[in-house]
Amino acid sequence: MTAAVLEIDDALAQYDPVMGLEVHVELNTRSKMFCGCPTEFGAPPNTQTCPVCLGLPGALPVVNARAVESAIKIGLALNCEIAEWCRFARKNYFYPDMPKNFQTSQYDEPIAYNGWTEVVVDGETYRIEIERAHMEEDTGKSTHVGGATGRIHGASHSLVDYNRAGIPLIEIVTKTIEVPGDKAAAVAKAYVSMLRDLLLALGVSDVRMDQGSLRCDANVSLKPTGSATFGTRTETKNVNSFRSVERAVTYEITRQAAVLASGGKVVQETRHWHEDTGITTSGREKSDAEDYRYFPEPDLVPVAPSREWVEEIRSSLPEAPTLRRVRLQEEWGFTDLEMRDVVNGNALEPIVATVELGVTPTAAKKWWLGELARAANESGQELNALGVGPAEVAEVQKLVDAGSLNDKLARQVFDGLIKGEGTPAEIMAKRGLALVSDDSALIEAIDRAIAANPDVVEKVNSGKPAAAGALIGAVMKDMRGQADAAKVRELLNAKLGI
Ligand SMILES: [Zn+2]
Repeated sequence: MTAAVLEIDDALAQYDPVMGLEVHVELNTRSKMFCGCPTEFGAPPNTQTCPVCLGLPGALPVVNARAVESAIKIGLALNCEIAEWCRFARKNYFYPDMPKNFQTSQYDEPIAYNGWTEVVVDGETYRIEIERAHMEEDTGKSTHVGGATGRIHGASHSLVDYNRAGIPLIEIVTKTIEVPGDKAAAVAKAYVSMLRDLLLALGVSDVRMDQGSLRCDANVSLKPTGSATFGTRTETKNVNSFRSVERAVTYEITRQAAVLASGGKVVQETRHWHEDTGITTSGREKSDAEDYRYFPEPDLVPVAPSREWVEEIRSSLPEAPTLRRVRLQEEWGFTDLEMRDVVNGNALEPIVATVELGVTPTAAKKWWLGELARAANESGQELNALGVGPAEVAEVQKLVDAGSLNDKLARQVFDGLIKGEGTPAEIMAKRGLALVSDDSALIEAIDRAIAANPDVVEKVNSGKPAAAGALIGAVMKDMRGQADAAKVRELLNAKLGI
């Protein structure tokens, strides 16, 4: 049954949303959090397991130092304090995809806490406080077979794959986020998108939302406009795209508003997000005092990163992506709109690499956004899958700068590059694209244009030099576009005595 919802504007006229976002990031370490099993995605089920990640009696876990380093990197990049000493804890609950019957996590002693970050939405900057970032292990993966929905209800049997059990996870938890209601969903989306960029820049995760290596749980509650008392929240689990985060938050605002406006009570529960229909449905009820019987993990030594190590990691952090964008925009002299086009077109990194090869930012943007993004769009491909890299773009631009190509011919070279016809030089040779630099050939074409257009020549001679433009057009046409227009103008002007 589909729940009643209010229009978003009506919902926001009566209620203020309050959010909390929990993001799980799978780290890209080669081995698991507490054992040496490989973490590669897509291996046949249950081929990447051992006694430790299967929770067999007597197996002893050992902490993956690289995962701790990644956790510290993430914490520092989110302006967190890094614990001088912290422990893992057992979170006890039974779930068939968790072979140990507890998840090794962190409870009251997270490795990173008290941080903050910022996101920009519609030109406004919003500060988001970070409660904590803690280390834990992923669970296995259940597949429910035989039902219509792929969920456990209605399934005839279930399969479980423990390859994912024990893969290092970092859970990043925000404090309460209160922003203007009409910005809430966009801020949630911008936050997850910013995290993705940040994690990618840190090199700690491959952040593939489609493979579940970055997933977001969105807590949403409503309170009557102006009220200081928080309402009951729901937690929509495992939302796995930026757009879905925005849609799920919007949906929960409209659904909860309808419940409250009709005098009902919001149930505190987890909810499932349905990508296809854009709605959430009830999961399981969840109380605040759910008893996981947390206690410190007795099989693992505490994690006590030395201050020297933390400072060493801090000094190795790359520039934050948001700040880097601001810096590049300033250096390149792009407008906000141009920069947004570049970022949305996934052309930022290619342009950076092309500029590093000596091409001006404007020329790099022209080719990447104009020619190549259009071609990628037309063929439904990613920009980086076209087979044209920064080196080719720089090579073509050098040919333009040297006067061997004009922009129009360069476009044909790009077309050849996309079609795999060889290097720019080979394509020019095969397609006969070089500009005619031989003055005598140009002068012959100019003579032909003058002879064919006596009326234009008369206009020029009677004091209308602008009319010569028609002659340049005729020469370019005669040369099949393979002439440098500036050179033609220069020779023509000399000929006509302008
Ligand atoms: Zn293992």
